[in-house]
Amino acid sequence: MGVLRKAQDEGKPAGRVPAIDLGATFTDLRQEILAAVERVLASGRYIGGPEVERLEREFAAFCDVPHAVAVSSGTDALRFALIAAGAGGGPRDEVITSPLTFIATTEAISQAGARTVFVDVDPESLTLDPGLVRKAITDRTAAIVPIHLYGQTADMGPILEMARPRALAVVEDACQAHGALYRGGAAGAGRSAGSLGDAGCFSFYPTKNLGGCGEGGMLTTARAEIAARARSLRDHGQSEKYIHAEEGYNGRLDALQAAILRVKLKRLSGWNARRRALAALYTERFKEMGLAGTALRLPVEKPWGTHVYHLYTVRVPIDVRDRVRAELLEKEIETGIHYPIPLHLQACYASLGLREGSFPVAERAAREVLSLPLFPEMTDAQVERVCEALRVVLGRG
Ligand SMILES: *Cc1c(COP(=O)(O)O)cnc(C)c1O
Repeated sequence: MGVLRKAQDEGKPAGRVPAIDLGATFTDLRQEILAAVERVLASGRYIGGPEVERLEREFAAFCDVPHAVAVSSGTDALRFALIAAGAGGGPRDEVITSPLTFIATTEAISQAGARTVFVDVDPESLTLDPGLVRKAITDRTAAIVPIHLYGQTADMGPILEMARPRALAVVEDACQAHGALYRGGAAGAGRSAGSLGDAGCFSFYPTKNLGGCGEGGMLTTARAEIAARARSLRDHGQSEKYIHAEEGYNGRLDALQAAILRVKLKRLSGWNARRRALAALYTERFKEMGLAGTALRLPVEKPWGTHVYHLYTVRVPIDVRDRVRAELLEKEIETGIHYPIPLHLQACYASLGLREGSFPVAERAAREVLSLPLFPEMTDAQVERVCEALRVVLGRG
């Protein structure tokens, strides 16, 4: 595979391995980004305008959806999608989601006027377990929010099948899954994350697979009325200037971010391919080292899709995870934990009355997961260094 061996491998010291290197992305795209920034600054159009409209069209094409609405964050995309899909405020106000996600998902549910109903995740993919979703559906359920965690879509087929006859909205949290496919890979072309449910929600937070140089987000949908409502909500509920049919939010994307994101969007497919190649190299090396097993559980690529590896997240036994992480840091290898405390155990959700033991799969994952460095500019030599360090550190146990 051509992308496995990059020219960059030459001449870079295999020293510190950061979790991500945003400076390297800028260095690679410096000319184009500076030209885009200059163009916007000279245009005098700083909020909305042609750059934002072009990004919307280009991102809609990327996801193969009719509508894309640029907003100021992934959180706003989720909030507007849930409001537009009618999840809050009515007699049906329960929204089913996973506790193993970033809190933005459930903040958006609450802020849309709905109530979060957590269900546990599949032990391999750590995405919503469709069987448990089915059991959690009541006549108060308004929507389901699957999280495409770490860059792999949730198992959308069964979720959509149970949602459709009950008229439940499905809002995809695709904030980690720009370009991920469902029913992709060998099975065929697949459909993009964000084009599967009633709406898809993306974040352009700098560390995401497509990230700006600030905050940003996008809502994708095939439903014209959801797109129209989101356009109104992001702009103070305005249909025309100073005409307000409803109250909205200040949730627009700025033109500088849009222009920068347009430069980066052209690279996204190549970056995702590189992420997949790096993930494959990690997996291959760990297997060769004989490490893959109970001491080191590798990410599972489900047959239902194409993973875009926002994160390469392994699992190590609970009693060694924090030691492993600390010793890797001593070797100047940065790792992350996504996420250390499942949301149902957070103080802000104490009123839900859930406790340790409520969602054993998510709870266990929270104590075992470890995200290794992964970013498109990472070299093969850096992957080798992480693998070697992990072998040494695990061997000490
Ligand atoms: C990043 C992220 C969000 C929130 O996106 P922001 O742009 O930071 O508001 C929501 N859900 C998940 C799963 C995320 O990773």
